[in-house]
Amino acid sequence: SGDANIKVVVRCRPLNSRELARGAKPLIQPGSEQATSSGGRAAERKTMAFSFDKSYWSAGDRNDPGYCSQQTLYDDLGKELLDHGFSGFNACILAYGQTGSGKSYSMMGYGADKGIIPLTCSELFVRTQEKEERDSNLKFTVEVSYIEIYNEKVRDLLNPKNKGNLKVREHPRLVMSYPCGSGCVLTDISLGPYVEDLSRLVVSSYEDMMTLMDEGNKARTVAATNMNETSSRSHAVFTLLLTMKRHDPETNLDTEKVSRINLVDLAGSERANSTGATGQRLKEGANINKSLTTLGKVISALALASQSDGKVLTWLLKDSLGGNSKTAMIAAISPADYDETLSTLRYADQAKKIKNKAVVNEDPNA
Ligand code: ADP
Ligand code: MG
Repeated sequence: SGDANIKVVVRCRPLNSRELARGAKPLIQPGSEQATSSGGRAAERKTMAFSFDKSYWSAGDRNDPGYCSQQTLYDDLGKELLDHGFSGFNACILAYGQTGSGKSYSMMGYGADKGIIPLTCSELFVRTQEKEERDSNLKFTVEVSYIEIYNEKVRDLLNPKNKGNLKVREHPRLVMSYPCGSGCVLTDISLGPYVEDLSRLVVSSYEDMMTLMDEGNKARTVAATNMNETSSRSHAVFTLLLTMKRHDPETNLDTEKVSRINLVDLAGSERANSTGATGQRLKEGANINKSLTTLGKVISALALASQSDGKVLTWLLKDSLGGNSKTAMIAAISPADYDETLSTLRYADQAKKIKNKAVVNEDPNA
């Protein structure tokens, strides 16, 4: 077990063709271990510096020495995530940022530029196989679920037939009472939040995992906004459940560790009014803003949202943001948007303050 702040990194994408066509200049400069935002409207032009655990620069040429590739990001964040998972901790990576800033690129990737999720899944099976080959008393099970939270409704991306709105519940609290001396001791066991009727599929190879992932991605709700044709107005939560069973031949006892790895592609953080939204789009925007604000509050208050806050995302990530998890946030930024970039850097700055105390999910009596 150990205490650690959540790891917060920033990644700046390259200028896109539209930005280049209008002659946009990058407003962000990489520094050592920091991201600097400068420029903006002439009247309030100022340079601001932020420091993060790491600032990744993907805005230059792929052959530049400082260029952050998909592999760089995986080496720094994905490997560590797997290390935590295999040690029995929960782990979580969140991608935050405005639409078009590179969240999905970092998490899923596009085409040959595979993101953290596929690279992690690939290494996951390499490691389980290696460990099982080395130790015949070890047995791993990998399960996956994939949901989308859109307008506060949960959809199962791996079972599109399961339409609409899955219920988010807390496992019933088990209160155990056993006699002790002249009184009795009460033990309160809470198993955390879960989504009712959600598919949790056992996956035994990388190829099967990719097939499921692709199906899930196709099922994802995307709605166009003025900013980006394929902008996502939903949060996507890809969850890996890793179960490690160890048999002790001497005592003939089995122990089990279960860890949950949440990989979260958050909805675009841009303010609704900056995309000229009306009607349904405005409602989506309001829900996104509320859930991201709640997430932010949780992060800055170092406290868990109470159930009455009713924000599905925060509720589901309770175990990932609160106690028992190692968490990293990727703040994705666009190089030529002063207001949104500044707002993302400020949000990420808040996230640095969260402290997690992670404990191993081990049940010695399993
Ligand atoms: P978001 O999910 O935040 O809305 P995307 O990940 O879809 O944004 O990225 C928007 C566009 O920018 C995509 O065409 C993507 O390929 C490109 N892009 C994003 N980040 C990078 C990067 N680091 N390097 C190269 N292209 C990128
Ligand atoms: Mg996206």
